[in-house]
Amino acid sequence: MRTSAMAAAIADPATLKLNEKANQLKAAGKPVIHLGSGEPKAPVPAAAISAANAKLATATVRYSPTSGSPDLKKAVVAYTLDNYGHVCEPGNVLISAGAKPAIYFALTAVVEAGCEVVFPAPYWVSYPDMVRMLGAVPVVVEPVPGTFEPTLESMTAAVNERTRAIILNSPNNPSGHVYSEKLVSGLVALCEERDICLIMDDIYHRLVFDGRRVPSAFDYARRKGEDSVIVAINGVSKLYAMTGFRIGWAVTTKRLIGIMKNVQAQILSCPSALAEAAALGALTGDQSCVEELRSRLEHNRNVMVRELATIPGVKLNVPGGTFYSLPDFSAYERDSHRLSAFLLDKVMVAGVPGKDFGAEGHIRLSYCGAESEIIEGVARIRWALDPAAPRETVIGTATFVRDW
Ligand code: PMP
Repeated sequence: MRTSAMAAAIADPATLKLNEKANQLKAAGKPVIHLGSGEPKAPVPAAAISAANAKLATATVRYSPTSGSPDLKKAVVAYTLDNYGHVCEPGNVLISAGAKPAIYFALTAVVEAGCEVVFPAPYWVSYPDMVRMLGAVPVVVEPVPGTFEPTLESMTAAVNERTRAIILNSPNNPSGHVYSEKLVSGLVALCEERDICLIMDDIYHRLVFDGRRVPSAFDYARRKGEDSVIVAINGVSKLYAMTGFRIGWAVTTKRLIGIMKNVQAQILSCPSALAEAAALGALTGDQSCVEELRSRLEHNRNVMVRELATIPGVKLNVPGGTFYSLPDFSAYERDSHRLSAFLLDKVMVAGVPGKDFGAEGHIRLSYCGAESEIIEGVARIRWALDPAAPRETVIGTATFVRDW
């Protein structure tokens, strides 16, 4: 049987590959420290659990409307007003099975084969493949060396008549970078002028540190209502630690939502009504869990920055948000796949190779786990990279002996 060359070319996501290997080692009883993870470890908010329980107790869990339940759409309208100051209506909202399909359906709505989609490096691993799956071409814009932000000029230079969308994820997975007001406002103006869709992947937009606020594209929009070019993506996965519920959404024009809804209808039918009930509980319940998570992540970020600073030659741009850091290890090893495999093999620390995010020479290290894991994980990396370190060492409860 012949298989699709397009499908076969889709990369095995680096994060999943790494998880698999780390889990195998863990299952074999090895003391793995997982700094590769992409989900907060906080418990599901109590309000989400009781809302899901109440839904189950009705013994009626049927198809939702294709674009999502009216209650959850209303809650997203309220969320958008509270957190973006942006007024919209339920008709501007598509609820999907996570932010991921919401992004894909937005791309499906605006991209055709042969078109181009522009985004800066480092980028979330899924963007290039999503674009390719639509027969379109990903166009990656490199950041200013030593930073994680491209200039507006370089983004503008990447745009041509084939460009249908620009994707910006702020704060950014994998770097934690919060893009500047100058870049965001410039991109809004560029997209409005050239009639290009601006997809803002805002899945981490409230997980920001140092008292900052993420500049929102809506703040700078001149084209409003049905004339808007902005698609704002969000969801409960990260903010409410509800990755397993698979609820995310898009907020954009009614026209685009109508197209996305029809695409969603043929692929998902609708979001899960049970997961929607839980998400509604999270959005309308006690919000202190979001601030608790944010402040714990800020603390963990500080620990990660402090610990990484003890490894000579490792360069780190301090993350402004998310739960990721993207240190530059190229002083030791430029090939991030080799370095990541080495660290997992020799000191059992899992970190994701930067190459898969368009940032060769870097390793993505998450700080969504326990503080002790960050400290111990970085201590192991420090020992492994230091040629002058003692041949044998005990870090935490694990003993390591250099055999390389
Ligand atoms: N965008 C980015 C940048 C992400 O990191 C993720 C999750 N890793 C998503 C979107 C997808 O989120 P969801 O789980 O809601 O599909």
